[in-house]
Amino acid sequence: MTAPRLEINLEKIKHNARELQNLFSSKGISITAVTKGVLGSLDIVHALIESGITSIANPYIASIRKMKEAGVDIQSMLIRPPMMSEIEEVVKYADISLNSEICTIKLLSEYALKCRKNHKVILMVEMGDLREGILPCDIERTVEEIIDLQGIDLIGIGANMACLSGAKPTVKNMAELSCIAEQIQRKNGIELEIVSGGNSANYEWFISTDDVGLINNLRLGEAILLGCETLYRKKIPNLYTDVFTLVAEVIELKTKYSKPAGEICQDSFGNKLEFQDRGYMRRAVLGIGKQDIDISRIKPRIDTDIIGASSDHLVLDAKETDLRVGSEVEFDVNYSTLLKLMPSPYVEKMYFSDQPLSVEAAVKNAGK
Ligand SMILES: *Cc1c(COP(=O)(O)O)cnc(C)c1O
Repeated sequence: MTAPRLEINLEKIKHNARELQNLFSSKGISITAVTKGVLGSLDIVHALIESGITSIANPYIASIRKMKEAGVDIQSMLIRPPMMSEIEEVVKYADISLNSEICTIKLLSEYALKCRKNHKVILMVEMGDLREGILPCDIERTVEEIIDLQGIDLIGIGANMACLSGAKPTVKNMAELSCIAEQIQRKNGIELEIVSGGNSANYEWFISTDDVGLINNLRLGEAILLGCETLYRKKIPNLYTDVFTLVAEVIELKTKYSKPAGEICQDSFGNKLEFQDRGYMRRAVLGIGKQDIDISRIKPRIDTDIIGASSDHLVLDAKETDLRVGSEVEFDVNYSTLLKLMPSPYVEKMYFSDQPLSVEAAVKNAGK
């Protein structure tokens, strides 16, 4: 089979999505599935829909457009505030967008009117992670302005934590978000359909509280795809953490000395490395590299150690394994590697359902 390849188990994705929906719905929280980690893959979107997901989110309007143009009839949410230069596409393809700038929302309104369409807006509130979000002191005035705009439905507020800075969602800051929602409803006599508390980093908050307040939605990517929360990267009970398997092939296997020869200068990425003298070792060279993986985060599923990589070669300490030239090595992947693998033209994507797909079908599906 082709190597390197990324094997994607759709049954495991469905399982994870179902488990998370059951868990979060026990306290009245719906889940919007975020597909940015998988390039908006339509195979994965279909699997999510089969698992009961009714709302799909992505920060890239191109991914949402691809989904809508393929005829996938599901609520779409743009989860990065729109660029002023993409407003027309946003109104056309996204049912909902997350926003933090009134000038952008005004432009959305103008274009929505032109298209005789209503566009739904969730106002993002800054709760401490310091990425997108309106400052709490500006909320009141901005909400009033949004409510007056034609073609725009303010359907909710949201927050995003633990992305740029790792700021943790807590009982306290989530209660604050809830309180902000309550004030907006009371002052303006409106009902907010969505109070979107965050992402996969909200798992611990959710587990630790019985009172989720008005928070009734989370936008989950990594939890569904990789089965873990994202504050400590701990596995979430009952979820699969091996939805994705990276497979790479051994192209050289030799016993070599562990310490490079002669004077050591910069490596191919401008780093100066240090090496221990560990005598002779069996070293496996694999046909993959930093072009497609984040080597500090992938984990071989057999007992080998990653020694290093250049852009296109990965070297393992083969230890006592029976690896030889032509052997395949399986790896667990993390989110940053997934982000590189999915769009890579050098890595075949193979989707597996109940039964492994035939190779032909898999090749056809690759790169979707
Ligand atoms: C990426 C992102 C998410 C999903 O984050 P995960 O950690 O993958 O759950 C949710 N909301 C916004 C605004 C995002 O940018």
